[in-house]
Amino acid sequence: MSKVIKRKPDFRKIQTNRTYTIPEAAKAIDVTTGTIYNWIRRGLPVLEGRGLTLIQGAVFKKWLADKWAKRKQPCKPSEIFCFGCQKPAIPKPGSVSLIARNDKIIRICAKCSVCATNMNRTASRAKLEEIRFNFGELEVQELHLNGYSFPNAKSTSCRVGSHGREI
Ligand SMILES: [Zn+2]
Repeated sequence: MSKVIKRKPDFRKIQTNRTYTIPEAAKAIDVTTGTIYNWIRRGLPVLEGRGLTLIQGAVFKKWLADKWAKRKQPCKPSEIFCFGCQKPAIPKPGSVSLIARNDKIIRICAKCSVCATNMNRTASRAKLEEIRFNFGELEVQELHLNGYSFPNAKSTSCRVGSHGREI
């Protein structure tokens, strides 16, 4: 059950000085009318009248810009972005492991507390104290040059590349 990450519609194409019908709006930014209806259900403001739903270009453009700006919002220190939920989520308790990628970077691996999708995020090793404060007192699992070393056998929630240390 993998969800495709939707590409960002090119909302610069929306003209702010006109109104769009739903098919016109869909065509303008190359999405389906189903996507537009979905957005309306999620709060895209429309003008209704005479059986016709119209979207004001300026409103449409701003709503989409805000929506995408929100997606880009960095996770809170205790969250990791979940591609299942399409938003930052809190890891499931006990699912977090810290794996060293190199001397400077560690990977925080966990399962989403909402949908159980594997999620991970890289962080600076210099912030280890802060990471432990947010995710628990965890040992960093070192990835050695000659293959894997997983002291914690439960750390299967994260797949690590076969490169070992990166330069
Ligand atoms: Zn999730």
